[in-house]
Formats: sequence, structure tokens, C-alpha cells
Amino acid sequence: MSALLEVTGLHLGYGRTTAVKGIDLSVPVGGVVCLIGANGAGKTTTMRGLAGLLKPTAGSIRFEGADITGTAAHRIARLGIRQVPEGRQVFAEMTVDENLHLGGLQAPDSAEFAKRRDLVLERFPRLRERLSQQAGLLSGGEQQMLAMGRALMGAPRLLLLDEPSMGLAPLFVEEIFRIIGDLKREGTTILLVEQNAQAALEIADYAYVLESGVITLHGPGPEIADNPRVAAAYLGGH
Ligand code: ATP
Repeated sequence: MSALLEVTGLHLGYGRTTAVKGIDLSVPVGGVVCLIGANGAGKTTTMRGLAGLLKPTAGSIRFEGADITGTAAHRIARLGIRQVPEGRQVFAEMTVDENLHLGGLQAPDSAEFAKRRDLVLERFPRLRERLSQQAGLLSGGEQQMLAMGRALMGAPRLLLLDEPSMGLAPLFVEEIFRIIGDLKREGTTILLVEQNAQAALEIADYAYVLESGVITLHGPGPEIADNPRVAAAYLGGH
């Protein structure tokens, strides 16, 4: 599979702090790649860098063969990289439908917009039931679905999912992973950041372990899950 996203020697930081220290990673077309690591390892920083919200201080990001290093976030979104941010960040005062609408603003025409909206509502029937409800009043799991639906309204070529299961009740965690599995089967390319390493490694074709801003291990999902060091640090020692 050819690489859709190719990251080389990427450095990202905040002021004088370097949080991501020269990482290399690659996401193939149609693949699900996961990034695991402890709190503060630099996972969210990496996602923000890929979404154009933080400018790299060194290294390069290539998407579909083109260099997009330093490209502004709105351009990156237009190229088809859509982020579901950590903590969901739906527009709380707006309705569910308005949130979805914002995600689909760049659809080429109204027919395509309507098609995407139908697909999202088929995937997330709970959102259909709550279309006119204020997003801030949804449960955490429903807000996660809305954040994913909003990203899918952009018909992403690459979906960046940052901790989609964080803080959710077990039933919602299961549902979110089932949806990620559906997206994978349909050929969506996904880069997934997760604290729930077990579930993430089960679904991922390939995984990277990030520690203090450096990739310390990478390989096929099952291989990483079987690594004793990963098991001890991220899988509860089993
Ligand atoms: P978590 O799971 O806790 O979100 P993470 O792996 O996503 O962890 P990051 O949030 O990327 O980690 O943080 C990486 C490093 O960058 C940490 O040392 C953190 O303190 C620092 N950092 C993150 N955001 C900022 C910020 N806005 N300003 C300064 N430093 C930051």
C-alpha cells in the first residue's frame, strides 16, 4: 500500500519546549495506524501538528506525495485531513444539525452535502433523534459521535481521531470502536490516538509507541500488543 501520509523527522513544540522530537511515521492508504503512549508523551501535539494547528519547527509532512509542512489548518482541512480533537470540542451552543452543517461546508454541492449527511445519520442514528438539540446537552458518548460525524461530513481522505474513547461509559467505548471498525472496513484511512491501547492495537494494522516525544517502538498492531514492554506499560501487565 502506498503512503497517504508520510512524516519525517517531525519536531513540534510550545515556545522553548520541544514536545515531539523528530518522529517518523507513515499511514498507508486505507490503513488504520495507532499511536499509543503515556500522558504527556506528545500524542495530541502530533495530531495538532498534522492538522496544521501547530507549525513544525523541523521535519516534513507529506500528504498524497505533496509537501504540506507548515500549511495552515483550513487548507489542510480542505485537502481532506479531518481531525476529531481530544475532548470532542463540539460547538455546544449550536444544534447537532448545525454542527454537522459546519463539517460539510466544503462539500462541492448541495446534493453531495445531503448524501454525506444521510450517511452520517445512518451511521449515528442517535444523532438523527437529536438533530435539533443543543450539542452541549448531549452525553459524552453522543458528543463523540457528533464530533466524528462532523469530521465525516468533510468526506475525509485521512481521519485523525484523538482519544475517541476518553471518558466514555463502557457501552459507548464499545460502540465507538465498532464504528471505527466499520470505517476501516469501508476503506477510511485513520490515524488513531488512544489511551485504550488494548482496543486500539486490536483494530490497528500498524502501531507506533511514543515516549517523551520519541517513537521507541513500531510494528504491526498484534506484534506491538505482544511486546512484553508494551504489555507491562500500556496493557495492564497482561
Ligand atoms: P495526553 O494523553 O495527556 O493528552 P499526550 O501524549 O497527548 O498526552 P501532549 O498533550 O501532546 O501529550 O503533551 C506533550 C508535552 O507537551 C507535555 O509535556 C505537555 O506538558 C506539553 N504541552 C502540551 N500542550 C502544551 C501547551 N499548550 N503549552 C505548553 N506545553 C504543552
